[in-house]
Amino acid sequence: MDQISKANSPSLDNFWMPFTANRQFKAAPRLLASAQGTYYTDVDGNKVLDGTAGLWCVNAGHGRKRIAEAVERQLTTMDFAPTFQMGHPIAFDFAERLAKVAPGGPGAQLDRVFFTGSGSESVDTALKIAIAYQRAIGQGTRTRIIGREKGYHGVGFGGISVGGLVNNRRVFPQIPADHMRHTLDVDRNAFSKGLPAHGIELAEDLERLVGLHGAETIAAVIVEPMSGSAGVVLPPKGYLERLRAIADKCGILLIFDEVITGFGRLGTPFATDYFGVVPDLVTTAKGLTNGAIPMGAVFASRKVYDAMMTGPENAIELFHGYTYSGHPVASAAGIATLEIYEEEGLLTRGAGLAETWQEALHSLKGLSNVVDIRNLGLVGAIELSSRDGAVGARAYDVFVDCFKKGLLIRVTGDTIALSPPLIIEKDQIGTIVSIIGDALKRAA
Ligand code: PMP
Repeated sequence: MDQISKANSPSLDNFWMPFTANRQFKAAPRLLASAQGTYYTDVDGNKVLDGTAGLWCVNAGHGRKRIAEAVERQLTTMDFAPTFQMGHPIAFDFAERLAKVAPGGPGAQLDRVFFTGSGSESVDTALKIAIAYQRAIGQGTRTRIIGREKGYHGVGFGGISVGGLVNNRRVFPQIPADHMRHTLDVDRNAFSKGLPAHGIELAEDLERLVGLHGAETIAAVIVEPMSGSAGVVLPPKGYLERLRAIADKCGILLIFDEVITGFGRLGTPFATDYFGVVPDLVTTAKGLTNGAIPMGAVFASRKVYDAMMTGPENAIELFHGYTYSGHPVASAAGIATLEIYEEEGLLTRGAGLAETWQEALHSLKGLSNVVDIRNLGLVGAIELSSRDGAVGARAYDVFVDCFKKGLLIRVTGDTIALSPPLIIEKDQIGTIVSIIGDALKRAA
């Protein structure tokens, strides 16, 4: 009994919480105790509908037995083994299975897989591969990376350097990077459904930066095909195609950060498939293992991989790797996850729900303080006006209110971001929108 009550009300003093106002949290903690399907249960026994797939990661829903069994089996068979100069079949098996669903399909040849432990590690890995690739083809002066204003690429030093969210950068030193302009352009695109019509000219900013720094200094450009953490910023029609063309012209690699968009979020296996624009490197994590075991993966093109396989036979081509690269237990979780995705058609299920999702979200148009609604696949955003200039204050109130009413949403700045598990049913979409609608009315 003691143990249960301790688990339900732990000391809040020792766990230094990430991306959290720790002092504010202690005043009003929200603690989740269990999860099944599309629902969490909090420590007081209240059910909370998961409107965010955890943190954009539990795509197949919570508590999947198949993943649990695969993890247990692997833990008891072999808990850990290195993948430096040796290996174990399960990591190779997982990479081979991933290659079959790789971004862009077989024609894209993005089927060389480097395993990491998280999205941030995937980003740092992709940046290092890009710089090492340029060096391998005799372009060693290309060490600069271009990111975007408002981009989010995790919290490694590489990721914060190419990322463009001010709070993540402000107190830390960074590697050489520069940033393309990137705006929501809410004025011109407000309440557009799907991809916004206006803003393709923003892609030309890459040419401006090439002119400023010289193509011979730039290794790669990294973008989230659809950025999440900035508040769900969708690329204008034709924008990614234009980036690809400029990158090709200038000998710059294009990296898609698909940590959020990978594994079915847009109704296609990857955003690469949705947009039909093929990058040179793709970073993933989150949905890779359904969030159950931490893991990330970088998909590299054969062009990049083959260029690295030069030099003396016995030399290490890429001096980079993690203790947990291809971790056997994570690989087991990943294989089970892929099997679920395939058997239940989850990597494309969002496409069949996208219309319902879009109409449900846009039904909130007209409520006071709602300045924009955005959607793509099973991603949604409801942007609110700031309250008295305090960015995020109103959205935070809505978040707290929704939680009390049994719905988990995510807020970033003034935007409510939504990304339900891909197993969501139509009536649950209705529930999400109705709880948010009521909360918005109360917040008015
Ligand atoms: N890139 C993108 C686009 C992300 O959204 C995230 C996490 N939200 C990351 C990288 C970092 O992933 P992680 O938190 O697993 O390090």
